Amino acid sequence: MAEISNAQILDALRTVQDPDRGQDIVSLNMVSGVVSKSGNIGFTIEVDAERGAQLEPMRKAAENAVLAIDGVLSVTAVMTASSPAAAPPQQPEQPQGQQQQSKLLADVGAVIAVASGKGGVGKSTTAVNLALALSQKGLRTAILDADIYGPSLPLMLGITEKPDSPDGKILLPIEKYGLKCMSIGFMIAADTPMIWRGPMVMGALEQMMGDVQWGDIDVLIVDMPPGTGDAQLTMAQRVALAGSVIVSTPQDLALLDARKGLNMFKKVEVPVLGIIENMSYFVCPHCGEKSEIFTHGGAKNAAAQMGVDFLGEIPLEMAIREGSDNGRPIVASDPESPHANAYRAIADALWEKVFSGSAQPAAPEIIVE
Ligand code: ADP
Repeated sequence: MAEISNAQILDALRTVQDPDRGQDIVSLNMVSGVVSKSGNIGFTIEVDAERGAQLEPMRKAAENAVLAIDGVLSVTAVMTASSPAAAPPQQPEQPQGQQQQSKLLADVGAVIAVASGKGGVGKSTTAVNLALALSQKGLRTAILDADIYGPSLPLMLGITEKPDSPDGKILLPIEKYGLKCMSIGFMIAADTPMIWRGPMVMGALEQMMGDVQWGDIDVLIVDMPPGTGDAQLTMAQRVALAGSVIVSTPQDLALLDARKGLNMFKKVEVPVLGIIENMSYFVCPHCGEKSEIFTHGGAKNAAAQMGVDFLGEIPLEMAIREGSDNGRPIVASDPESPHANAYRAIADALWEKVFSGSAQPAAPEIIVE
């Protein structure tokens, strides 16, 4: 089958009008990041931040226009806000006329959010390796890359294909190393800049949770965006999380970032399953000497102070970095290594906690101040 060309896609999108500006979205330069692969199409529509919520029908119309092209199997249009300064941060909106929506991912055994106070602490690396460790325990495991600001799952798992969609609506997760995987990075060209505002964050995350055929799974690991913001609130509101795990470097804890993350989950009444200290210490590959670069042990002390469990520590290790940056995470590529064992021990602790009932289920109602 011939690839659908960008010109065909843009032609179809010329039939879609911006309701406020009276011209089509292509002429208004609102369409970017077009990806076309084997009949599966993705693109972004840039809109002003303040119009995000009301333009959802236009986004849907754009998807339908492209879906009508002969040979197109699935279409994913994502709205991004072009002017971050134009609007104040917004809270996810409650659906009108409805007090409480049903929770997403209700059929999943346990949804665990892996979070961090800031970027670059190894959250995604930890999420991927923990998911693999849980899968190796025989659990049907999936991973959702909810880090819409910087999706890293495609790189970490070496996934370059786009998800299929047999009916044009529901996406099939991509399977890799025994995991079912979904990421916005599968749909959007890596170099597309994405700036998100509240309602769009919510829409994109809801699509990735609700419009994906996850099938029967025991555990879903969610790689959260760093920090505390709309994505965290959306997850807390829309999913009955079994709990959250905070990944931190020892020095990050000293700088209070991880504490903020932890307090945020506490505030929205999501149980905190515990803290993981990443890049905890370094073992010299030449002499075997252990160096505690970032004052090892900070996470353990902070966990004790804050009354949450310490789940374990992962060393700063070249093989971990190489694996996660080359699409071959260490728990899959070298499952017998001591580093894979470190992840496995944490996965065991997590599983024990989630099913022993020591983590209280999230309260159903979240109040956002
Ligand atoms: P985050 O998701 O917090 O932004 P990443 O998981 O993307 O962080 O990790 C940031 C960088 O640090 C990546 O290059 C990754 O390979 C590397 N990294 C993560 N954990 C370790 C570790 N324990 N040892 C060595 N490198 C690591």
